[in-house]
Amino acid sequence: MLRSSTALLLFMCSLSAVAQNEISASSLFLKPGEPVPQECQQAAQLFAHLAAIYPHPKSGWHFVIVCDDNSWDAVMQKMGLVDGLTHYGETEIDRRITLFRGRKLIHPDTGVSPEFIVAHELAHIMLHSRNEQIVDLTARKWVENFRNPIVQSKGPSNY
Ligand SMILES: [Zn+2]
Repeated sequence: MLRSSTALLLFMCSLSAVAQNEISASSLFLKPGEPVPQECQQAAQLFAHLAAIYPHPKSGWHFVIVCDDNSWDAVMQKMGLVDGLTHYGETEIDRRITLFRGRKLIHPDTGVSPEFIVAHELAHIMLHSRNEQIVDLTARKWVENFRNPIVQSKGPSNY
């Protein structure tokens, strides 16, 4: 339902780690033939970069960067997610689709980094969980581990 009513503008991602998944940028307000706004392409590239860092599905997942906030609001309304909370991303595990609010990846809110937004949705996918608490904890761990990787001790080599 969402896919057919949304003008999906597909472009391929060059990062091999996530290349087996579909990444598209989407806006409800683009005229046919109109190129994806540069900022939205940036958001998609940033997503691909971050998704490659954290655990992610190997294939068969569809990631959609919803370019502008008007489109995002419309999509949230369609999904029945107008609840007064700020939504940055949404994962539908059964349909293997994850939406990201593109604008917030490029212009992040204080305390909600793009790293965390991406890690959070990926945690939904990898844990197959809708439990926000567990997903949040996992995402925080991933972000922290990547920022402060455990330093490997430099013992004698086994080779
Ligand atoms: Zn969530």
